[in-house]
Amino acid sequence: EAKERTFDRSLKGRVAIVTGAGSRAEGIGNGRAAAILLARDGARVLLIDAVQEWAQRTQEMIAEEGGEAMVCAADVSRNEDCQAAVAQAVQQWGRVDILVNNVGIGGPKGTAVDLDLEEWDQALRVNVTSMMLMARHSIPHMLQQGRGSIINVASVAGLIGGHPSLLYPTSKGAVVNMTRAMAAHHGAQGIRVNCVAPGMVHTPMVYARGMSEEVREVRRKRSFLQIEGSGWDVGHAIRYLASDESGWVTGTIFPVDAGATAGR
Ligand code: NAD
Repeated sequence: EAKERTFDRSLKGRVAIVTGAGSRAEGIGNGRAAAILLARDGARVLLIDAVQEWAQRTQEMIAEEGGEAMVCAADVSRNEDCQAAVAQAVQQWGRVDILVNNVGIGGPKGTAVDLDLEEWDQALRVNVTSMMLMARHSIPHMLQQGRGSIINVASVAGLIGGHPSLLYPTSKGAVVNMTRAMAAHHGAQGIRVNCVAPGMVHTPMVYARGMSEEVREVRRKRSFLQIEGSGWDVGHAIRYLASDESGWVTGTIFPVDAGATAGR
C-alpha cells in the first residue's frame, strides 16, 4: 500500500546559504530571486556576494517582506572565504539546511586555441571549484542534522553543445556531473543534491553583456513556450528543490528553459 509522504512546505526554522545572492541595482538575478523566495517561505538566508552592496540590497528586499537575512562579502573561489561564510551562518543560526551554489561567470571567450590560460584556470575555480568548496564546508553540518539540500546552478550550456566559447559550457557540464556524483556520495546520509539548468533568462549578467534585442528574439523563438524567462522562474525551481516537497528527488538535472533543450 502506497503511503503518502507528508511534508511541511514551509522552510521555517531552516537556514539557507545562497552564493551570488546580489544583483546589480534592482535587477533580479537567479541568486537574488532564490534568496527572496526561500526567505518568503520562512528560511533565514545567508547572502554571499563578492559585491557587498548588491547583497545588502537583497537583504533590504527580504527585510521589506518581513524576512530574515544576513550579508556575507566573500569570494567563493577562495577556500578561506567559503569556510568563513559557512562558519558565519552556523555561528549566527546554528545550522545549515540548504546550500544554493549559484555563483557563475561567463569566463574567457574563445576556443582552445585562443583562450587565455590564466583566465581559464580562475574561471574554473569560480564556476566549479567554488561549488565543491561550499559543499565541503556545509556537508559536515548537514550530516549532524541528518538532512540537507544542495542545489547547484548549471546552465543549458552544460547540457548541449553549440556555445561560442569553451570555458562556460565546459564548467557547466562539470557542475552537472558533480551534482550526480555528490548525490550518490551523500544520499544515504539524507543529503539531496540537485541541479537547475537555466536557459537564457533576463538577469543582470545577461544585460551587462549587452545582449541585443535581435539575439533575445532568436533565443526566445528557439524555445517551445517562446517567452523570455526571468530569475524568478529559476528561483521557484530552486525553492522546490530546497524544500521537503522534493524529498524523493536527488541527483536530478532540472532544465528551466521553456523547453529549449527538449527538442526542436
Ligand atoms: P548575476 O551576474 O546577475 O549574479 C551573480 C552574482 O554573483 C553577482 O552579484 C556577482 O557579484 C556574484 N559573484 C560573481 N563571482 C563571485 C565570486 N567569485 N564570489 C562571490 N560572488 C560572486 O548572474 P545570473 O545571471 O543571475 O547568474 C547566476 C547563475 O545562473 C550563474 O551560475 C549563471 O551561470 C547561471 N545561469 C544564468 C543564465 C542567464 O541567462 N542569466 C543562464 C543559465 C545559467
